[in-house]
Amino acid sequence: MEQTGAGRLVVDRIRCEGYGMCEQAAPELLHLNDDDEPVIDVAAIPATQKPIADAAVRACPVAALSLSGTTVS
Ligand code: SF4
Repeated sequence: MEQTGAGRLVVDRIRCEGYGMCEQAAPELLHLNDDDEPVIDVAAIPATQKPIADAAVRACPVAALSLSGTTVS
């Protein structure tokens, strides 16, 4: 079995209200820019950082953040 990564974080910019909980949960993966918009800093989440990515997804109060494209074979 080969694990190639945990996917990538995707922001729904329509839903996002710029609260910043995602940045607090995973500052090593994303940050808010000057307009309070999340910018994903790690395009492909390494499997070792999946728990942090999951925490960021759970932290968003409006479900604007998701983890997609998980590839496990
Ligand atoms: S926690 Fe959710 S609403 Fe807040 S900045 Fe992150 S993605 Fe946007």
